[in-house]
Order: sequence, then C-alpha cells, then structure tokens
Amino acid sequence: NIKLSKKNLNITPSVTLTIDAKIKQMKSEGIDVISFGVGEPDFHTPDNIKKAAVKVIEKGSTGYTAASGLPQLKEVICQKLEKENKLHYKPENIIVSNGAKHSLFNIFQAICNPDDEVVIPTPYWVSYPELVKMADATPVYIECSEDNGFKLKKEDLISVITRNTKAIILNSPSNPTGSLYTKEELEEIAEIAVKHDILVVADEIYEKLVYDGEEHISIASLNEEIKERTIVINGMSKGYAMTGWRIGYTASNTEIAKIMGNIQSHATSNPNTIAQYASIEGLTGDQTSIEEMRRAFDERRKYMVNRINQIKDISCITPKGAFYVMMNISKWIGREIKGNKIKNSIDFAEVLLENANVAIVPGLAFGADDFIRLSYATSLENIEEGLNRIDNFLNS
Ligand code: PLP
Repeated sequence: NIKLSKKNLNITPSVTLTIDAKIKQMKSEGIDVISFGVGEPDFHTPDNIKKAAVKVIEKGSTGYTAASGLPQLKEVICQKLEKENKLHYKPENIIVSNGAKHSLFNIFQAICNPDDEVVIPTPYWVSYPELVKMADATPVYIECSEDNGFKLKKEDLISVITRNTKAIILNSPSNPTGSLYTKEELEEIAEIAVKHDILVVADEIYEKLVYDGEEHISIASLNEEIKERTIVINGMSKGYAMTGWRIGYTASNTEIAKIMGNIQSHATSNPNTIAQYASIEGLTGDQTSIEEMRRAFDERRKYMVNRINQIKDISCITPKGAFYVMMNISKWIGREIKGNKIKNSIDFAEVLLENANVAIVPGLAFGADDFIRLSYATSLENIEEGLNRIDNFLNS
C-alpha cells in the first residue's frame, strides 16, 4: 500500500494525445477515419533541415552540448528574435529545451510557489492547467467569449487579479481558437501586467502561421518594462514542421533563464544535439518552404470555415492564426443524434467518431464545452470528406 505522489495523482493525461493514439489504433485496424484531431503539420520537415541533420551525424557532432542549449543555436535564436520580433536578447537570456512544452514546464517550475495563481484565458491549450498544477500553483480561468474572438477582455483580467497572481498565460496565435491579439490589445494587457507586477508567459509557437495579412506581435517587444517580465516561448514544431525533433526555446530575463537552465541541467541535460544543429539550418536557411506551408494552411482554413458555416446548426468564427477552428455545437447540446443523447462536447465527439468515423477534439479539453476543435493540418480532400460526413451525420 505505497502512497504515490499526491500532487501528480491529480494530473490528467493529455486529451489530444489520447485521441491521437485512438485514431492511430483505429487506422491500424483498417478503419477509414478522417482525423481533425491532429496538432501537428501534415508536411514533412523541409529537406534542407533534414540534410543538415544527416551531415551533423556524419561529421560526428553527436555528443552532449551545454545543458541549456548549443551556443551557436542560442546566437541564431537571438538573431531571429531581433529580426522577426524586434526583441533584443543575448545568449544568456535563451534556454533551448525539448520542445516548447518542456520550455513551459521549466517556466512554471522556475516562477511558481505554492499559493501562486496563474491566469489562464479559456479556451486554453490542454497542457497549461496541468503544467501550472505540477508547479504547485493554482490555475485561475477567465472565460473568453466567441463574441470577443475568444480573446481576453481587459476588465475580466483586472477582476481576477489578487495578491497571489504570479503570471498570465498569453497564447497568440492561439491553440485551440486561432485568435491573434492586436497591438492595442497587447498594450492593454502589458499595462495591467506592469501595474500589478505580474509575469507574462507568452507562448508564440504558432507565430509563423498567421493569415489575412495580419501581423504577429510579441508582447515583449512593446517596451522594456513588459519585456523584463515576459517569458517568450517559441520553437520549431509548428512553423517548421519539426514536431518530432523536440526543440523549443525561451527568451527571458537572465534571472529566470538561469533558474530554468539549472532545472534542465538536472532533469534532462541538453535537448537532442542533432536536432539543435538542424534547428540552426531551419532558422537561418531558405524559408520558402515555410511560406508554402502557411499558404496551404490558409487555403484549407478558408475552405473549412466556409463549409462549416453552410452546415445547419453549427458555426465558427474565422481564426486568424495557427491551424485550428473552434466549431460551435451549442445548438446540438441537449438534442439527440442517431438515438444518442448529446449532453456535452465529449458525447458529441464520441457519437461522431462511432457513427461517422470522424475524429475531433471535444471542447471540454480546452475548458469550452459548447465547442469542438477541428484541426486543418490535413489535406483539403480529407477536410472536404470529413465535413461532408459531419453534414450527413447531423442532418440526414
Ligand atoms: N504551445 C502550444 C499552444 C501548443 O499547441 C503546443 C503543441 O501542441 C506546444 C506549446 C508544444 O509544442 P512542442 O512541445 O512540440 O514544441
């Protein structure tokens, strides 16, 4: 009767990864599933990056690097932040980790104490609450309505701030909503954060995937005061189709960077050496394929939004970034579909998967039960077929 970690008994498995595993299982059984569940680009990693990795292996640069990341990669990240985000950092501000998820884990471990509260705008990315809890802190949720583009309102943020508020998470462009904060909106949040002495955890992993001529702006670039209290997170997974390579990074003040580096030096040592070298090529090499992927996502986004809004009793607003659409299913809650009572988004997801072989992620996973999340990181043919199936399923 051994007592295991009380704190971690409360950590739930990642719903999206669980669904992903279920889809892979169904596919391996020969079932023709259309998946809108995926959280990764369906493109291959660009050739120049793959070749750079092969070269590194052949050259034999395969040992450990500095635990917080390869110095040359940190240099390149600083150049990228300067050029693309108007952010001036030095290598000692940068920590390279095993994916942005690991960066986020390090951040909350570095900044949180018991009793601390971390503000999480809802709908949120599935891992934020659990990462905060793993650091002994408490998530505080703010519901952001579809009417407001799923974005945080200034007055709502002010209303949840207490003496225990340590940080706010800002994910722009957002998973799952695709919303993108404007400069004016970021200025409002920055002002509040500075005034109330709150850190900003700015997850910018989807920055390369922005549409309609909109611009991604890093909140840290607004002024020195907000930069000092912001931890910027980015990585190679989404923009460079490098999910499996596991490279993410943070830029922060040196004090926070140092603590994160120390934690990482004991928890994992350096992230994969070969992937770090390949990321140098990713960030400095030809960016043409990155823009091609963005254009392909954009085409799918437009198709998906248009088609969803043609289907009776479901709808969505147009996302400005990332590769997800939040589909409003509130009109189906409480109704019956094919003899199944739909009480919530989980029922909807299950009944859809079983009856129409279409996989989606229930909004409950993101704290938004009136919605389901559809990823358009899949081919246009799949999107067309999947939405036809949803239409038939709901309206036949
Ligand atoms: N942040 C957000 C908002 C994400 O959607 C993801 C991946 O799904 C991550 C961070 C983590 O990305 P990775 O660990 O692959 O770099």
